[in-house]
Amino acid sequence: MDRSLWFQAALLPDGWATGVRIGLANGRIATLETGVERAPGEADQGVALPGMTNLHSHAFQRAMAGLTEARGPSDDDFWTWRALMYRFLDRGGPEEIEAITALAFMEMLEGGFTQVCEFHYLHNDPSGAAYADIAEIAGRVVAATRTTGIGLTLLPVFYAHAGFGGQPPAHGQRRFVTDLDGFADLTARCRALVAGLDGAVVGVAPHSLRAISPDELAMMPALAGDGPIHIHVSEQTREVEDCLDWSGARPVEWLLANAPVDPRWCLIHSTHVTEAEWRGIVDRGAVVGLCPITEANLGDGVFPAVDFAQAGGRFGIGTDSNVQIGAAEELRMLEYSQRLARRGRAVMADPQRSTGRALHDRALAGGAQAGGAAAVLVVGGWADIVALDVEGIAFAGRAGDAVLDSWIFGAPRSGPIRSVWRAGREVVTNGRHIARDAIQARYRQALLRVLGEATA
Ligand SMILES: [Zn+2]
Repeated sequence: MDRSLWFQAALLPDGWATGVRIGLANGRIATLETGVERAPGEADQGVALPGMTNLHSHAFQRAMAGLTEARGPSDDDFWTWRALMYRFLDRGGPEEIEAITALAFMEMLEGGFTQVCEFHYLHNDPSGAAYADIAEIAGRVVAATRTTGIGLTLLPVFYAHAGFGGQPPAHGQRRFVTDLDGFADLTARCRALVAGLDGAVVGVAPHSLRAISPDELAMMPALAGDGPIHIHVSEQTREVEDCLDWSGARPVEWLLANAPVDPRWCLIHSTHVTEAEWRGIVDRGAVVGLCPITEANLGDGVFPAVDFAQAGGRFGIGTDSNVQIGAAEELRMLEYSQRLARRGRAVMADPQRSTGRALHDRALAGGAQAGGAAAVLVVGGWADIVALDVEGIAFAGRAGDAVLDSWIFGAPRSGPIRSVWRAGREVVTNGRHIARDAIQARYRQALLRVLGEATA
């Protein structure tokens, strides 16, 4: 046994248990006792939750947070945001991207995520030329994973076109573009890169129906191997209109009719769906990847999450643009967006579970499915544990589901998460990542190089 940890309570697959001692060995949970007293001198680790999967991230976008809030010359919508991202990509080399990715992954761990699905689409250098190693930047993502200790589901992105119908890629997309042969090499290299990383998974990510032709999309399941398949779909109303013009069908409608969508698939956003479309997703058992803070920041719209969940739909949460990073923050934004749209309270709760508990359980299961990573505290599973500091004032007098509700809706931004173990290693302690100072210093240097000087 490497170490044992005692918790006042823990959320186990069949519900809350109190007085829980978890023994760790080789990164996994070796023993799990419930109803046991804390031994003399044994530390009280608080309340244990299983680590959450962040099912959608573009880590490098963390560096743009706060730089895209000025109004553009025309309608300040998603398209002006994307234009700024393209400018940002002019200057970020491998070292800068690794430093930014490490910061984002560190903040994910501090925010309660123990696994990240990195939707990785920076394959070429700033001029658009291929790196000598097609997996140069993927290797930097893996390096950031090693620096921070987060679990990785690496999703190399296939991106070949600027719009529906196989339009040639635009200048701003030069860093993303590969052909199918190059992409097959890239996925093979990604598998080699993650060898030996505890709990790492490699899947594939056809970027969107705009960026991949039907023939190319048909190649993706084979390239995924036994890994997951993620795709952006139906995020913006303009995308829906363009897809209708191209095919006569809406994006999710087209995907369900033309791709073998099943539980391996994760449909990122799916914001603008008809009832027939979301019921189709439920029937296929695919996960919807909701990114509530980014969707709010970009003004995308609101997915019909209440109806979808009540019908048995599976969803998880992602931090996408990483404008702000935290599991509780995403779950809160998800619930509040639904409340605002429906003008009601506790809309994601169900008769058996409070709002926080229902949101947490569903996002945990959906995230695990989408990331290919188990997310329950059981003997034999990875020791991915998030410990809440229930001595904090927000938790006074709380137990059971009220702890989750108080974390998600009532706790201050810093403080509630005291410790995080990922594959048995304590990577966050007293709310801070163990390498925070070095990661932040490297990030500052990288941002000075990318931005040149302070940006107004
Ligand atoms: Zn995305």
